[in-house]
Amino acid sequence: MTDINELVRENVKRLTPYSCARDEFTGDSAIFMDANESPYGKLNRYPDPYQRKLKAAISKIKGIAEEKVFLGNGSDEIIDLCFRVFCNPGIDKVLTFTPTYGMYEVSASINDIKVVKIALNEMFQIDLQQVKPLFSDKTLKIIFICSPNNPTGNSMIYSDVEYIIKNFMGIVVIDEAYIDFSAKPSFIQLVDKYPNLILMQTFSKAFGLAAVRVGMAFSNPDTIKYFNKIKPPYNISTVNQRTVLRRLDRLEDYRSQVSKIKKERERLVNNLKKMKLTEKVYPTDSNFILIKVKNANFIYNTLVDQRVIIRNRNSVIDNCLRITVGTRNENDKLVNTLKTILI
Ligand code: PMP
Repeated sequence: MTDINELVRENVKRLTPYSCARDEFTGDSAIFMDANESPYGKLNRYPDPYQRKLKAAISKIKGIAEEKVFLGNGSDEIIDLCFRVFCNPGIDKVLTFTPTYGMYEVSASINDIKVVKIALNEMFQIDLQQVKPLFSDKTLKIIFICSPNNPTGNSMIYSDVEYIIKNFMGIVVIDEAYIDFSAKPSFIQLVDKYPNLILMQTFSKAFGLAAVRVGMAFSNPDTIKYFNKIKPPYNISTVNQRTVLRRLDRLEDYRSQVSKIKKERERLVNNLKKMKLTEKVYPTDSNFILIKVKNANFIYNTLVDQRVIIRNRNSVIDNCLRITVGTRNENDKLVNTLKTILI
């Protein structure tokens, strides 16, 4: 079994973290003259650095202990923290399965960490035979698995992912940003089983709070402690903590929106399949659809001219476009515009 402490960078282990005023006193009804705040106004106090109320609500909904929950300024902050806790700049490396979410590589470069890339197979699944020889490399610190994967839309095979977590002695990060749209099960229950697993989810997609910037990580309490040790002290504002809490109070809105998006996804998939310009509509567990066309650049540019913006993924998968599912009207507008494009 992996000992997390052995994987952590020495400087992070040695670090004495910044101790903020609200670390030392956490009660409510007191005269606060400890943090050089203004005594006036409604947003004059620093936020709870550990977001306790929000974590309690998340813990209840997800059925996972509060000490196993970390919140970041979007999942993007958590990705960066993974590098800073575990990877020695200029020495260590991480593994990604391509094509995938671009921030793993950008964050790696910022932290001067090499990225080993293994291409997903023609079904956009992981080729375990290519991964196994890398398990013994001590400088390979993290394997990133995005499931459902961006930009392909599909989920990774459960047993393949569990095999990697079980056999790799480093950290495995599973990014489940799109899990709420998937019919396949989340990997969240594996967090209690494997200490080397960090599972990320976000409020940016199904919860409709991309502007708020709150991402979640679920992992063993040691890893969460290291994240807390190095994060900026007040990484989630009071306004943002409250906004997410309000959203969690009305889960029925979230559920009905997710179900609407899934219905619209099905309608959009059917419409796209009927169109002449689509060569292939890839299966999706996400709120977006990847399609292969004859001339992605041309179609993308024509849509832009009509003020319909999709994502041109031609540079990562030949002639592929990624379409986010919108409202019924938006999807109809896209389909109608596509119908006017003659290839
Ligand atoms: N992971 C994946 C797979 C994503 O596609 C995105 C955003 N496009 C993110 C994480 C970023 O999430 P957040 O808004 O929580 O930073």
